[in-house]
Amino acid sequence: MTVPKPRPEILGIQPYVAGESDLPGINRVLKLSSNEGAFGTPPSARQAIIDALDEVFRYPDGSARRLREAIGKRFGLDPDRIVCGAGSDDLLYQCALAFGGPGREIIMSAHGFAIYKIAGDYAGSRVVKVPERNLTADLDAMLAAVTPATRLVFLANPNNPTGSMLPAADVARFQAALPAHVLLVLDSAYAEYVTHPDYEPGIKLVDASDNTIMTRTFSKIFGLGGMRIGWCYAPPHIVDVLNRTRGPFNVSVAAQAAAIAALSEPGWVEAGRAHNTKYRPILADGIAATGVKVWPSEGNFVMADFGTVEQANAADEFLRSHGIIVRKIGGYGLPHCLRITVGTAEEVGLVIEAFQELARHTNG
Ligand SMILES: *Cc1c(COP(=O)(O)O)cnc(C)c1O
Repeated sequence: MTVPKPRPEILGIQPYVAGESDLPGINRVLKLSSNEGAFGTPPSARQAIIDALDEVFRYPDGSARRLREAIGKRFGLDPDRIVCGAGSDDLLYQCALAFGGPGREIIMSAHGFAIYKIAGDYAGSRVVKVPERNLTADLDAMLAAVTPATRLVFLANPNNPTGSMLPAADVARFQAALPAHVLLVLDSAYAEYVTHPDYEPGIKLVDASDNTIMTRTFSKIFGLGGMRIGWCYAPPHIVDVLNRTRGPFNVSVAAQAAAIAALSEPGWVEAGRAHNTKYRPILADGIAATGVKVWPSEGNFVMADFGTVEQANAADEFLRSHGIIVRKIGGYGLPHCLRITVGTAEEVGLVIEAFQELARHTNG
């Protein structure tokens, strides 16, 4: 049969597997599989979406000017150096397509965020996954992987799904050692959660260089994953590229309104970070007390390491039978681990109880 065929590399793409959201036959489901914020939609964003309803017959402001100004004000950045996207994924794709391409290589760490590989494959680039050290990006090995064909490096900090964080000084040294023709995309999707003193989300590096951009999202701490809104901070020449390639109306009327409102929701980010700082160790210690290794994390999630694929799968089945959906991460090369989002206090308690029961079940 003759049918329209895409470029050959397209059919080599492994489709993104999203965190699942329901379990047939179970009424109350705890969805801890997608690192969404624990507290729902910010009330002011909810109202802004309702208020935007009468405006949705019009196209959005394609330049997202008011939103860029609000982001600029909040983070102390020049709005002219900000580009908004339909989720930060949108911007990661634009980077891969614009700077990658056939004959061009893209570098990521072995357990880096799945979208980097998908976007790089889509661009027709060779995507080089560099082995990690102790489940943390090995920056020296990534530098050693740079060739004349390298055009882009994707680096999530903290990384999803491992939760590992790279200190600011290490990232700065890495950036300084990269050839000037290589674009460094620092994905700081979890920046707002980080409390570690050695962390820098990338703003300083973007300011200090011509080949670094930082991506951020409203999908995690800001509680707007379903609206699809993210942004990046970049040098003017990269802003220019992204403004040529992105969809002209890539961020909807409702998404822009919601994000502007979420930015000024009083205390929202502070409360989300404080909750995470308190409950992430409670979750991690609670799981570790049942004999399951938990890797250190700076995000709003932890990674439980069961040692074997069989035990991870059995734990996943057990949690599902208790209405708890976590994230299998075999696609990240970590089939012996599960990633678990830090939920509300009650959800954290229910996860720990389930792990305790699992341990009794397994040992009994
Ligand atoms: C969740 C996440 C994103 C955000 O994606 P959006 O498209 O903005 O929802 C980006 N990078 C990483 C590493 C993530 O975990």
